[in-house]
Amino acid sequence: MNPRNRKQQITRVFDGRTHHACLCRGFRDGLPVFGWGEAPSTLLTKSQLRDAGLRPNGQDPVALLVFRHVKPYAHETVAELFSVERAALKRTATPAQLVALSRAMDARRVCVDCGVVQEYCVPTSTRQCGTCEDAALANQWEVAA
Ligand SMILES: [Zn+2]
Repeated sequence: MNPRNRKQQITRVFDGRTHHACLCRGFRDGLPVFGWGEAPSTLLTKSQLRDAGLRPNGQDPVALLVFRHVKPYAHETVAELFSVERAALKRTATPAQLVALSRAMDARRVCVDCGVVQEYCVPTSTRQCGTCEDAALANQWEVAA
């Protein structure tokens, strides 16, 4: 699959708690493929889980992240995405990692427009809550009309 191909498909991803309807770039090995910054914010790669003091906890990957590095001739990189909801704390998680995790989770719930901490993670693409995203879309339509 060419990651520059912007043709997207709607898919459903279950992150262990919520079914997300989202746009993916196709499927590989039966898993939805996302470009950089396009995956639901509750899906993390193994290294992102590790940075947050988590481990996959034996779960199978629920999606794939496919991207190219900025350097010329860089190889395509494929990373498996795991559900944060199904992940477990690393047994060795330090207090500092726990603080980092709760900060990271809070950051994912804050809307960039209204600054309100939502009960759900805001989309990585817009970082807006549902209300602000709707308002922004409505504005776009008004400008276009
Ligand atoms: Zn908002």
